[in-house]
Amino acid sequence: MRIIRFMDETGQVRFGHDHQDGQALVLEGGLAKGFTETGQRAGVTKILAPLQPAVILGIGLNYHEHARETGLEAPKYPVLFMKNPASVVGPEDSVILPPSCMNPPQVDYEVELAVVLKKKARDVPLDKALDCVLGYTVGNDVSARRWQGVKGSGQWTRGKSFDTFCPLGPVLVTPDEIPDPQALALSCTLNNEMMQNGHTGDMIFSVAELIAFLSQSTTLLPGTVILTGTPSGVGFKRTPPVYLQDGDQLELTVEKIGTLRNPVRAEKGE
Ligand code: ZN
Repeated sequence: MRIIRFMDETGQVRFGHDHQDGQALVLEGGLAKGFTETGQRAGVTKILAPLQPAVILGIGLNYHEHARETGLEAPKYPVLFMKNPASVVGPEDSVILPPSCMNPPQVDYEVELAVVLKKKARDVPLDKALDCVLGYTVGNDVSARRWQGVKGSGQWTRGKSFDTFCPLGPVLVTPDEIPDPQALALSCTLNNEMMQNGHTGDMIFSVAELIAFLSQSTTLLPGTVILTGTPSGVGFKRTPPVYLQDGDQLELTVEKIGTLRNPVRAEKGE
């Protein structure tokens, strides 16, 4: 099933599926308790991020090609950081470049397969890990590189947590439609120019391995989003470097899920 979270004509936030011609079949329930069909259609005035995550766990350097372009060795264990759940925005929402990230420009895009967990998970064995997955969506792990490095004192969380730095969507696709999360092409275009063009088969740690690793002695809550890392082609490793600017358009696509589009705007001020 391809689930959307949306605003209807009355301003109510609902879940639905079978989105076409500006309408969706309404689902009752929620991500944690499950959905039941209502058989009713409602007008979709705005598609929202598929969920407001309980927590966002980010994985760094999880593609062989991306690790190579950064000049770093492939990590022996997953590199974990967190992103502020309040940084989530939906499809077509603007990614805002704050003044604190503009002198010099430093904000970068990262297309990622985003995994949403459906139930509490702790000490999950590898062969049961994918049973915890509610669905998959597209994520953009927007990153302020100077804040990630010098101004973050080497800790990435600060540079990845500014408001609007986590676009998610446009749809949550359940695992019956994606039996193998390691078999998906993913790409990012900036102003229609291809910047990233990778494949989840290049991940250093698979989705199942990440869930098993992250749940060791640790309770993962329902609604946890795992951003599983980005393939090569990020802006700060290009020659010359490419950073997001006011007026840019981002289109991030993951096979079998869809395309997450967000314009980029510079915040006024300072
Ligand atoms: Zn990332």
